[in-house]
Amino acid sequence: MPQETDTVLNPELKYKFVSFTELAAKKACGVTSETVRLGKLEHITNGTLVNLRETTLFQKGTRKGKTKWLDSVGKCVVTTEMEQAEKALFVETTKRCGVCQGNGLVWWGWSFDQGTKYRPCKDCH
Ligand SMILES: [Zn+2]
Repeated sequence: MPQETDTVLNPELKYKFVSFTELAAKKACGVTSETVRLGKLEHITNGTLVNLRETTLFQKGTRKGKTKWLDSVGKCVVTTEMEQAEKALFVETTKRCGVCQGNGLVWWGWSFDQGTKYRPCKDCH
């Protein structure tokens, strides 16, 4: 069992985490827009059925600045191999660790009281 003291609470991350699933899905659907994000994910045999959706931000009201989900722009299957290929490409182009993406920390959980927890990355530490 890992020691609770290893965890880091709500750290300032050096890099924003990218989703290899999202990158692979966008490629498969031929989508390049930055505002298209991962919608519903369904785990299926050999991969994930991904629904890509257009997003925008609420311009006013209580949810101002929050993500507003718009229409689906495509659905495709992302296989584990496709995700691995995106990860390999990421490592090759950025020269950063494919697990923590250069942050030195990996996501470890979330709790209402404490927020987001991270742990040191075992792959590069
Ligand atoms: Zn790492």
